[in-house]
Amino acid sequence: MFVGHYAVGFAAKRIQPRLSLLTLLTAAMLADILYSIFLIAGIEHVAISPGITRVNALDLYDFPISHSLLTDVIWAALFAGIFFLRSRSARAAWIIAAAVLSHWLLDFISHRPDMPLAPGVHKYFGLGLWNSIPATAIVEGAMWFAAIILYARATRAKGRAGFYGWWIPIGLLTLLWATSLNGAPPPGLGIVKIVNVVLISLSLAWTYWMDRARVDNVLESATGPQARGAFR
Ligand SMILES: [Zn+2]
Repeated sequence: MFVGHYAVGFAAKRIQPRLSLLTLLTAAMLADILYSIFLIAGIEHVAISPGITRVNALDLYDFPISHSLLTDVIWAALFAGIFFLRSRSARAAWIIAAAVLSHWLLDFISHRPDMPLAPGVHKYFGLGLWNSIPATAIVEGAMWFAAIILYARATRAKGRAGFYGWWIPIGLLTLLWATSLNGAPPPGLGIVKIVNVVLISLSLAWTYWMDRARVDNVLESATGPQARGAFR
């Protein structure tokens, strides 16, 4: 999935406002962050195979460290564990773990059977939502728009920057996602590697900034001893 992972981050912010959007998006996209690093390092591999699914032309034949169920459980435990040691919030740590694991679930729904169980185990799973452009548009689009509404209602722009800085990237991401649905093969693997890193880096930088440009309605209205600030 593409914007579906962003949707998890935005929706989770509604569940635990004290968690930063940066932390939540990092969790939801952790498998893809690792994948983009491992691709460049030559540890994991993909091939371009036009038509392999209707929506995505990449043959993801070797990505068991970033995208297997077993390693994603380990990544979730590591990320949530480190967070818990720092914050002492079990609830927030569980939400982070769930966000990391949601990645495998969403990719399992969208990919053809290429999602590995564990490194070295040749069992692969995938429901193949990407075999249908309309089904992908409906399922992922519904998640995306629901999450946008949830986050936009849970937060408020501090100023113009917080308004336009939210809606313009949302529009660009929506456009990028919609145009990616036609399954056109990328021009080369070098481009794939660069685009992955650039898109993820920009997205994380954007969410870091959004945590400062928008205030959370729940946190802001909290008063008395219950009023606690955001995790940093
Ligand atoms: Zn992925």
